[in-house]
Amino acid sequence: MKEVKSPRKPLIYYYVIIMLAIMLINAFVMPRLMQRQIIEVPYSEFLKKLESGQISEVSRDSYQIVFTDRSQPPIIYKTGLMEDPGLVDKMQAAGVTFTSPIVEPASPLMSFIMSWLLPIGFMVLMGRLFSKRLAKLGGGMNAMQLGKSNAKIYIESETGISFDDVAGQDEAKEALSEVVDFLHNPAKYTEVGAVMPKGVLLVGPPGTGKTLLAKAVAGESKVPFFSISGSEFVEMFVGMGAAKVRDLFKQAEEKAPCIVFIDEIDTIGKRRESTAGLGGNDEREQTLNQLLSEMDGFDGSKGVIILAATNRPEILDPALTRPGRFDRRIPVELPDLAGRIAILKVHAKKVKLASNVDLARAARAAVGASGADLANLINEAALRAVRHGRKTVSQEDLEESIDVIVAGYEKKDRVMSDKEKKIVAYHEVGHAIVAALQTNAAPVHKITIIPRTSGALGFTMQVEEEDRYLMSKEDIENKIATLTGGRAAEELVFSSITTGASNDIEKATQLARAMVTRFGMAEEFGMVAFDQQQNQYLGGGYTTNCSSETQSKIDALTVSIVKEQYDRAYKILEENISKLHEISYALYESETMTGEQFMDILARPARLEEAKEFQAEETQPDSSFRSN
Ligand code: ADP
Ligand code: MG
Ligand code: ZN
Repeated sequence: MKEVKSPRKPLIYYYVIIMLAIMLINAFVMPRLMQRQIIEVPYSEFLKKLESGQISEVSRDSYQIVFTDRSQPPIIYKTGLMEDPGLVDKMQAAGVTFTSPIVEPASPLMSFIMSWLLPIGFMVLMGRLFSKRLAKLGGGMNAMQLGKSNAKIYIESETGISFDDVAGQDEAKEALSEVVDFLHNPAKYTEVGAVMPKGVLLVGPPGTGKTLLAKAVAGESKVPFFSISGSEFVEMFVGMGAAKVRDLFKQAEEKAPCIVFIDEIDTIGKRRESTAGLGGNDEREQTLNQLLSEMDGFDGSKGVIILAATNRPEILDPALTRPGRFDRRIPVELPDLAGRIAILKVHAKKVKLASNVDLARAARAAVGASGADLANLINEAALRAVRHGRKTVSQEDLEESIDVIVAGYEKKDRVMSDKEKKIVAYHEVGHAIVAALQTNAAPVHKITIIPRTSGALGFTMQVEEEDRYLMSKEDIENKIATLTGGRAAEELVFSSITTGASNDIEKATQLARAMVTRFGMAEEFGMVAFDQQQNQYLGGGYTTNCSSETQSKIDALTVSIVKEQYDRAYKILEENISKLHEISYALYESETMTGEQFMDILARPARLEEAKEFQAEETQPDSSFRSN
């Protein structure tokens, strides 16, 4: 992509000029100053010359004596100062003038330089430095042109990004292709009487490829593309943001047909406060008002299309999203399984893959990952391959980097006691067995008890075979049961519980609460929502809106849901206790187990001897551990 920018003189340019000036002074001015030489003589010589009447003038300052003789032109001498009380008398006797000190008259050129050129030069230099500093504060511009928009203009793409680089997101691509097509063949649309939307808003969670899509539009459309981020409008001086908007649209109109892209528009497009003045942000409001009026100002036939992206559509000012402004909204959602596979394929092109790599398997494990996560995943895998001195990325690298993204790096130096390791093994296998024995739960993908930098001592990764868009009440209950399975296994086997389940408890509580307050799954309340999500795409918290009476009922219901599922999980484990022992033992030995290995052991006939042995060890009381 070609970027057009005005060249700026580097600072070194000024240094070179100053250096040249100094060299000129050295070459031409200094020798003339040096013409009048001063000869240094010993004090005795001075006395001799004084006595013989050769000296005409004497001057002394605090550290030396300077004198001239009577020759034409007079020669100047100097000598060190001596404690000599009779000197004045001697000088008087010799008829010497010794009143005024000899001052070296400065050459006219030098005095001109000193009193005029230097100060002026200094001031000019300071002025330039200061204006640079100002410009930096004001968003990278010269102080003279603060109101100019500094939108980057992508004129045409040669090496640019195309729609092929954006995997998945087919609906978004289709909607945007229509926009591109309009810019190329407006007649086709105007003939029928269709008007293109002025503004197109891309909304979706972070990392789903909104910015990437906009760049692809720039690459595909072959018209000028102005790209600016919302934060670049926020200025040091009041009113400058508005001026920038004005300038941006003026430029855009000159270059039409063209596309203006405003990334992260929520920075300026935030809902205006109804209580203006009370802590309201005047600057931002002015900028937004300017944007609104600019969008009204030109008609769609001019061929300027405004593209914007945000992950917080709910905070945008309603005036921005009304018809006639950003009237088309294109959702850019988290990718589904097919989308994840496609994105992995796009990014896998950049690395060397081993022949046995199964991207679909990795995609299935990376539930909920955004495009940016998946790009990162491939890179992490490649880094790991290098770290292990391999030339290609293996399946293992991919799986491990999913774990890294899910749970952090393996913590090699963490030493777990034998006892702890056993507890973690039982805990994780507890999750896995409860998950596997419930018909609707997703199969287990991987279990590991290698500690992670995130603090997790182990984890059980479940994946869905297919994407699920609806969860039934039973699905959620199964999920809660699975989450409580770890703690249930601990209690069942060790008759004691540990802190290791805190994360599970948190998640189980959240789910149970959501059943009551958002999904209308508690019979007592029916279809009533008490919680409202604050932010759809950023996973923000919930605000609860109910009486305190209802609140305590909600709490009681939440507690009973979790309790019920915990009892169910406990029962499942109790009925399959020999499998619990057997698999926990295998996991304890191997530390990591794939879903297939797990299912193999679960399905095969019980090997009672092995399991019993481990069990016998386990049930021995261990006072050192029971302390917590
Ligand atoms: P957003 O603007 O939505 O927060 P970006 O467009 O900046 O996200 O995406 C960040 C990076 O993630 C991109 O540079 C790209 O490498 C990767 N990415 C995201 N979505 C996709 C996708 N659909 N196809 C390919 N790469 C993607
Ligand atoms: Mg972005
Ligand atoms: Zn757990």
